Amino acid sequence: MLKKVLIANRGEIALRVLRACREMGIATVAVHSEADRDSLHVKLADESVCIGPAPSPQSYLNIPAIIAAAEVTGADAVHPGYGFLAENASFAEQVEQSGFVFIGPHADTIRLMGDKVSAKHAMLEAGVPCVPGSDGALPDDPEAILKTAEKVGYPVIIKASGGGGGRGMRVVEKKEDLIKSVEMTKAEAGAAFGNPMVYMERYLQRPRHVEIQVLADEHGNAIYLGERDCSMQRRHQKVIEEAPAPGITAKEREKIGKACVEACKRIGYRGAGTFEFLYEDGEFFFIEMNTRVQVEHPVTELISGVDIVQEQLRVAAGEKLQYKQKDIVLEGHAFECRINAEDPYNFIPSPGLIESCHLPGGFGIRVDSHIYQGYRIPPNYDSLIGKICVHGKTREQAIAKMRVALAELAITGIKTNTPLHRDLFADPGFCEGGMSIHYLEHWLEARKERLVKEK
Ligand code: ADP
Repeated sequence: MLKKVLIANRGEIALRVLRACREMGIATVAVHSEADRDSLHVKLADESVCIGPAPSPQSYLNIPAIIAAAEVTGADAVHPGYGFLAENASFAEQVEQSGFVFIGPHADTIRLMGDKVSAKHAMLEAGVPCVPGSDGALPDDPEAILKTAEKVGYPVIIKASGGGGGRGMRVVEKKEDLIKSVEMTKAEAGAAFGNPMVYMERYLQRPRHVEIQVLADEHGNAIYLGERDCSMQRRHQKVIEEAPAPGITAKEREKIGKACVEACKRIGYRGAGTFEFLYEDGEFFFIEMNTRVQVEHPVTELISGVDIVQEQLRVAAGEKLQYKQKDIVLEGHAFECRINAEDPYNFIPSPGLIESCHLPGGFGIRVDSHIYQGYRIPPNYDSLIGKICVHGKTREQAIAKMRVALAELAITGIKTNTPLHRDLFADPGFCEGGMSIHYLEHWLEARKERLVKEK
């Protein structure tokens, strides 16, 4: 087993990894920026190393500083969490070349999946259904591009092969706008991702975002832990997630789950991963793979009983997965609300001092958060300050639990999006379940109009 793990991250996920390590008797090293000296993960870790000033390029993205910290502390592995360097193939490579275990897939796998054109190609070969679109990257020839769009059918979406985080995409409704849009997306992609390659997909009108969690080891074993529905999104950012996805049948789950497991085996996948799909009219269409633990992994843990982070640690140590597919039994229903330090109406970030903080608790409630009374949220990073998760026997019971949990949650000194979550858990549309990825944006528009009228 691993003896000492360096956690190359911050916030709630650093704490999540730290807890998993401690439970398994693995020592922990926290790395932190100057702005995060008072962070909970720093206080709770066995050792900590300051790796640079507040801006993340100088600290959490500073590869030489992180590797030096691993060397100085004698760590034997590095856990990247999510975000920052988690999907940076070069980081994974440098970690391994320096003699440490990278807790994630091989660098080559990260590279393959990080490029969306090559990822899609690999999925099609493995028999995973993809959104109909161009055969690989778009060529330069305008005539050929127009022809491809004709075949795919309007509206189409132009996507950057190197894109991520909801950036580098453009929807095209009609022929007249196509060439100009392709040129613009290429230019933006070149500037933002250093890779101007773009591809085309049919733009699905009212899909849901449904994703499959997988685990794989180096001994050829792979399993799926069911799906999550992450359709509640604002600007392509997930706000609420749930598992299982409403209305997905056991048969559908098994079919898509098996396809993902097959793909894992074909690409030699190792560790935890997520296959993201758009789901429309009973069909799954692969959009991308995340080669890391995701923010929303707790909802899957709650319904499966599998500790995903601990499995990551075991697999990284070269052990076999503890579970076979037949051991995986999904029970009940789970939700996660992402609590952000932001204004719940205009979404402007709200960092600063937490004057008081009461977190909810009770049967079936899980809170993953690094905040505490007297903690100052630095303005330099993502606004996620915690996740409230609930697990109930049924979806209705889980909704009732979340309402209670959100009613108890009280944070003063900063603004949070808690009121938005309370409103959504009182919204009949959301509570019915199965809404498309556009539901929340439309809902927010309607709220804005209502608020203007009331004024
Ligand atoms: P990123 O890596 O930037 O998150 P994705 O490929 O995962 O990019 O797409 C992000 C989001 O964009 C999806 O969750 C969905 O809301 C929208 N999207 C992407 N492709 C399509 C498509 N073909 N049709 C409709 N919406 C899409």
